[in-house]
Amino acid sequence: MPETTTLLRLSALTLFVALSACQAPAPKGTPNADATSFGTTAEQLLLAGLDRSPEAGISTGRYQRAGEVTLPDAASRAADLAFAEAGLATLARFDPARLPVAQRIDHGLLKNRFESTRWQLQTFREWAWNPARYSVAGPIGLLLNTPYAPEADRLRAVSSRLAAVPAYYAAARGNIDQPTPEHKELALTQSRGALALLGPALRSRVAASALNAAEQGEFIARLDAARGAIEAWQAWLGNVPAPRPFRIGAELYEQKFRFDVQSGLSAAQLYDRAAAEKERLHTDMDRRTQALWPRYLAGQPMPADRLERIGRMVTHLSAQHVARERFVAEIQRQIPLLAEFVRRKNLLEQDETRPLVVRETPPYMRGSGAIASISAPGPFNPTADTYYNVTPLDDFSPEAAASLLREYNHWVLQILNIHEAIPGHYTQLLHANKAPSLAKTLLRNGAMVEGWAVYAERMMLEQGWGDQAPEMWLMYGKWNLRVVTNAMLDIAVHTRGMTEAQALDLMQREAFQESAEAANKWRRAKLSQVQLTTYFSGYADILDLRSRRQAQLGAAFDLRAFHDQFLSYGSAPVGAIASLMEASGAR
Ligand code: ZN
Repeated sequence: MPETTTLLRLSALTLFVALSACQAPAPKGTPNADATSFGTTAEQLLLAGLDRSPEAGISTGRYQRAGEVTLPDAASRAADLAFAEAGLATLARFDPARLPVAQRIDHGLLKNRFESTRWQLQTFREWAWNPARYSVAGPIGLLLNTPYAPEADRLRAVSSRLAAVPAYYAAARGNIDQPTPEHKELALTQSRGALALLGPALRSRVAASALNAAEQGEFIARLDAARGAIEAWQAWLGNVPAPRPFRIGAELYEQKFRFDVQSGLSAAQLYDRAAAEKERLHTDMDRRTQALWPRYLAGQPMPADRLERIGRMVTHLSAQHVARERFVAEIQRQIPLLAEFVRRKNLLEQDETRPLVVRETPPYMRGSGAIASISAPGPFNPTADTYYNVTPLDDFSPEAAASLLREYNHWVLQILNIHEAIPGHYTQLLHANKAPSLAKTLLRNGAMVEGWAVYAERMMLEQGWGDQAPEMWLMYGKWNLRVVTNAMLDIAVHTRGMTEAQALDLMQREAFQESAEAANKWRRAKLSQVQLTTYFSGYADILDLRSRRQAQLGAAFDLRAFHDQFLSYGSAPVGAIASLMEASGAR
């Protein structure tokens, strides 16, 4: 499930501006200041933003302030707003038109981030209606599970954070006003998870640790108080009326879409594009199904309904999959084959010195429903290994394992590896960490990152991975329909009043999803906004850019050069990359 899992470990980093409190750096530079001055200023703004949040530090591997907790109160929101306004004032001292094109884009990225912060605080106001924002468990879990320092030091940081938990939930209670029932329910579920994290196992761990008796006593007292605060939060939240509808409406949706996706299209335009792509995929899949019918289902009558016959073929082929106990080993086996294919076809530059480490997902990262994810080193730790986490199916019930193996069948497993690893997320992130711009690395654009991985799937198949087999293209069609319908679903749910029945019909009948997957997606569409569109949005923008470059360059267009250049700018919005590429002249 790449769409739900990838980059979770880096996500907090992109939120840093909204997270915490301190002073913005004094504005430097003069109007129309030169590029050197802007570069310094941009870096100062970015690092000041990172330094403001101990929580962002923990998730990006900077632990100096790990014991400090940002209280989500009015004062910290005021400081966030002041930081954003000061940042905008600083940026206003530079005329983007006079900056070199690469810096003009950094300027735009920073401006978007600060304006987005202001919009979140003043207009969207999620802090007031989404109680699931408030959880103390994430940073504590990371400190307990990441061996960055001796155990006792990490426990001291946790102890210090525990001391702030009662004040944290007091501030959260002060914020919540008319939440949605869906976010209220999620917050209650999360708080049960927090209590489990702060449960008996942690007590035993403290007792067995190198903390001295006084420290242990203090830890346990704080732990008890923290648990009491979480239970009080649960009790309070359980009685809060939750009348707010989860649909945010077209106006707020378009605004959020602009800030989060930074595409050239509006959400409404993207919906039309996705609907057309759905039709194209259905036509293509039907053609493959009819061609494959005699080979696999000879003697069985072909249903008259096109979606029905595609569904029959998809179901039939899904029985071809790896044996349960070979799941991780098969993924491991495929990675070098993908690298070799990319090399032989000369598709893009690969860094042979930075191999991908396939590992079984560490236990503390399991349980999110994620089967596969990439843990990539951040820009401050560029030489660390990149891990491809694959969850072995040992703990699955026979039914759950069978269902998952059908989902990640012989063909889809290959597409998953392309998406997550080569030349998808792993390859893109290695390139991004080499990009010279801290802004493009830190303010990563989710649509570019996911769009690249989705583009990589199609590009590899176009280039002959899977030998143009109709089975491969059919399964690709099913896989890609998920991305297409995610976008339609999200936009229709939030701006067009799509009902649950309509949503399930779109996902199950038109995109061939299992009922459990569709039910999960419906839940996710109610809890988030815009994020589900990023995959298709980035993918569509990259395909458009490639077509445009082909038209501009004619015979001089070179696919490898296009890929290497595209990846060289870091995780910037595709539109920004397009202007950089087009400004760089012919290639
Ligand atoms: Zn992904």
